[in-house]
Amino acid sequence: MHGIFGITAVFARRGLLLLASLLFCALAISSTANARVTLDIGANACVFPDHKDLSLAGAMARAAGGDCPGGLSTGEMRDAWLIKSGLDLRQKPGEPLSVHLKQTLFEEVTLYVRYADGTVWTMRHDAASAASHTELGGMFRLRIPWRAGTIETIALHARKVVDPRGAFVRPAVETPQVEAIETERQSLIYGLFGGVIFATLFFNLVLLVWLRYAFLFFYCGMTAATLLYGLAASGIMMRMLPAGLPPMLGNVAAEAVLPVMLWFAVVFTITLLERGTVHMRLAITGIMLATLQVGAGVIALITLFQAPERLHVPLAVVNILGAVTMALIFPMAIIAWRRGSRIILIYTAAWAVPLAGAFARILVALGFMETSAFIEDSYFYAMCLECVLSMIGIAYRISNIRAERDEARAREIELTYLAETDALTGLLNRRAFIEYGIRRSGKGKLKSRLLLIDIDHFKTVNDGFGHEFGDRVLREAARLIESVSPAGAVVGRLGGEEFALIVPHSERDDTAGTILRAFRATPMTDGVRITVSIGSASGIIADDRTWRQVYRRADTALYEAKRTGRDRHVAAAGPEPSVATAA
Ligand code: GH3
Ligand code: MG
Ligand code: MG
Repeated sequence: MHGIFGITAVFARRGLLLLASLLFCALAISSTANARVTLDIGANACVFPDHKDLSLAGAMARAAGGDCPGGLSTGEMRDAWLIKSGLDLRQKPGEPLSVHLKQTLFEEVTLYVRYADGTVWTMRHDAASAASHTELGGMFRLRIPWRAGTIETIALHARKVVDPRGAFVRPAVETPQVEAIETERQSLIYGLFGGVIFATLFFNLVLLVWLRYAFLFFYCGMTAATLLYGLAASGIMMRMLPAGLPPMLGNVAAEAVLPVMLWFAVVFTITLLERGTVHMRLAITGIMLATLQVGAGVIALITLFQAPERLHVPLAVVNILGAVTMALIFPMAIIAWRRGSRIILIYTAAWAVPLAGAFARILVALGFMETSAFIEDSYFYAMCLECVLSMIGIAYRISNIRAERDEARAREIELTYLAETDALTGLLNRRAFIEYGIRRSGKGKLKSRLLLIDIDHFKTVNDGFGHEFGDRVLREAARLIESVSPAGAVVGRLGGEEFALIVPHSERDDTAGTILRAFRATPMTDGVRITVSIGSASGIIADDRTWRQVYRRADTALYEAKRTGRDRHVAAAGPEPSVATAA
């Protein structure tokens, strides 16, 4: 038991160490992001929804008039503008600037770069070109080619925006140096977290194959979905797919994978927790909600291709169902804890991370907080941490199962002992003696010798000294028989004052003589001397029928030993049972 807890504790400590280093890396990486020098074109820009299909000139005129109400109301499939004027940007040859922003849910974005001399350069980010602009971290980058002159205005025009965050999340103009840092940062993040998730998935797949616990299957499902989510949300998936697909496919795919992740997470929790600590009705509700959410995710993917203008409906359903399912975790955790679950403590810590991420995103959506790269990617970090923390829960659960199994095995051994042993002498009882005797024959190949040993005039011991004294003598007789029996003999008490031995058959065997001499030479308690009579017979004891045949012949021989004066051994004459019976 101590060993198991020791191992669990070591594992928990290792897990925490791993977690701490992951957190440290994440913080280090995000701090390099803050240190970079970029031009945030989101700050003090004019952002407004466009109902009239304005041209660049029209949009710039509106911005100049100061009519900048900001983002869109949720779910509207509208156009939007971002105008950042009054810039004074000069490019250096060989160092092209680029506009970098988050890929959110919209159909296309056009970048307008207006120079001081009135020239306008445009670039479109749409189904045809999206794959080539997509970068790690779910961002896209539009490179401005070198040209002499001063950039005065940068405008972004997004078409059919569905994202509640709008189309312009973290827009920035970056130099090639910053671009290099950003690329390195993203590669580090996805390399680190992707590696952790991949290793975790692989390790648990191996565990699943070996141990076949249901919770390991659901854990692997959850981890695989997390990996898929990372692929979709990071833009890696978009870069692997052929060009011509809608730019927001990656985002919608991520939104569709999220419910799958949650579904596996819910079922994993239910199967991982200790038996009897799960509130079944809440659990079933959770599974049903998560299943509906998976359906809504699939519908969102279909809607993206069939009727993109309605995309906000299934996405809203996914988010609401997700929030309700996550909210169910609280009462389930409290009930499980009250019912004595230990795992739920580790599990709550694991879930606190994704829940905190979700909470931060809600705060951003409500305008209480500025978004950051860390918050934007929080789902991915959170799920990674969740997967790693859950491993501690898995280790704990496996150690529990092992402890339960060890206990059951010990109980079984004890029950077997009780069922097979004669309570008074500790020898095998009649049933077990026959069973072991049959087993000794090696499926009927080995010949055995059965010795029936009966104490002479035992009634007089009982009558003279009392029944309890008689019991003591029986115990001492049992020890004596055991001590002189050859190795490998089966020793039992068949009942009353009758003992029995099964030894390998051999012509020169003198076990009977040894026992007779031992009783003659060894006084029992209080110097009481007893003798025994022995009847023996040889034969193959392969089953109940052959046992009865050999027993009958040995018993007849024992009767003969008693009849002819006791304190002696009579071997059954001839191997034929019929002869012995007739004797
Ligand atoms: P014989 O030499 O013919 O075998 O004589 P015996 O008295 O040993 O034979 P019998 O079978 O007539 O008596 C056996 C006695 O053993 C009767 C019973 O009181 C006693 N006995 C049987 N089981 C126990 C037991 O568990 N404890 C005690 N103390 N006595 C027992
Ligand atoms: Mg007797
Ligand atoms: Mg008897």
